[in-house]
Amino acid sequence: MKPWVCINMKKLVLYAFPLAVLISLGMLSGCGPKESGQNTSVEKPIVQPPVFNADSAYSFVRQQVDFGPRIPNSPAHRKAGDYLIEQLKKYGATVTVQAFETSTYDGHRLALRNIIGSFFPERQKRILLAAHWDTRPFADKDENPAAKFDGANDGASGVAVLLEIARVLQNGQPPAVGIDIIFFDGEDWGHDTETWDKIGKGKPANFPLPAGLDSWWCLGSQHWSKNKHKPNYSAYYGILLDMVGARNSHFFKEGVSMQYAPAVTNKIWKTASQLGYGSLFVNREVGGITDDHAFVNEIAKIPMVDIVHYHPELGFFGDCHHRTKDNLDLIGKETLEAVGRVLLAVIYSEE
Ligand SMILES: [Zn+2]
Repeated sequence: MKPWVCINMKKLVLYAFPLAVLISLGMLSGCGPKESGQNTSVEKPIVQPPVFNADSAYSFVRQQVDFGPRIPNSPAHRKAGDYLIEQLKKYGATVTVQAFETSTYDGHRLALRNIIGSFFPERQKRILLAAHWDTRPFADKDENPAAKFDGANDGASGVAVLLEIARVLQNGQPPAVGIDIIFFDGEDWGHDTETWDKIGKGKPANFPLPAGLDSWWCLGSQHWSKNKHKPNYSAYYGILLDMVGARNSHFFKEGVSMQYAPAVTNKIWKTASQLGYGSLFVNREVGGITDDHAFVNEIAKIPMVDIVHYHPELGFFGDCHHRTKDNLDLIGKETLEAVGRVLLAVIYSEE
């Protein structure tokens, strides 16, 4: 999913998605919604953040992988979704399940669920944390493009970091802000223009988007952005995690994040540097991608940053993306820990 920005832009311009039009025309500055998280300085924590337990986070990756690939409409997907709902409830969240149906480019009708866990729901100032919990139905970049894969990094890693944050939110000192965790469904069934010939799924031109969809990717975040779980819901800002668990990961400042939420992006990367993670969180801007944050920014009007794997030589997503080697062997506890610690430091710096 989420191909290069150049492919995205083609795809998005094709479908007249306004964000991509802005990007492709170079009319970026001043065109987006105003970013609400304007404070770029990294504040001292109001309360010392609780300890992020990397072993616990890793166990949450393994638990998801153990269900099998979380492919929508499969038993593994249903069981994993039920598990996520139970875990959020166990950690004290108020849970909302947003069930909906939608179609894929290759003619499937999917029953999807966005799962939302709210902590400190009475607080006005809120931070939204998100990751997608579904797995792509085929490893279309693999030698065997019809194979299924575990999605340990693509999907499970971000969910695992957020489950661990949910766990420590309940056990540690509360932050000064409310937290909403959203597990988006249906992110990864999109049409990849680079691989469609390998999987024999037809030319993209044969699959025009139906009314109401802006992309075949990110079905859950598109639905949520147009139908928020609370009618007037907003957040101060959002942070999306995607592919945040592989050993030797790198996170660069992603282009759509820098367009819509530059102050928050800079704050996250500065916090990472202060915690000693400057080599993981590289202080360099790269191109933009289609990921769940693009729709939260564009449609829901909440400034949202994507922390997503970018390989210094290969670019976005590295060489395990949508391949069978995206399995537990890839996952490094130290990467999960770095991302989790940075997130907690950012959350607990808010007043
Ligand atoms: Zn993917």
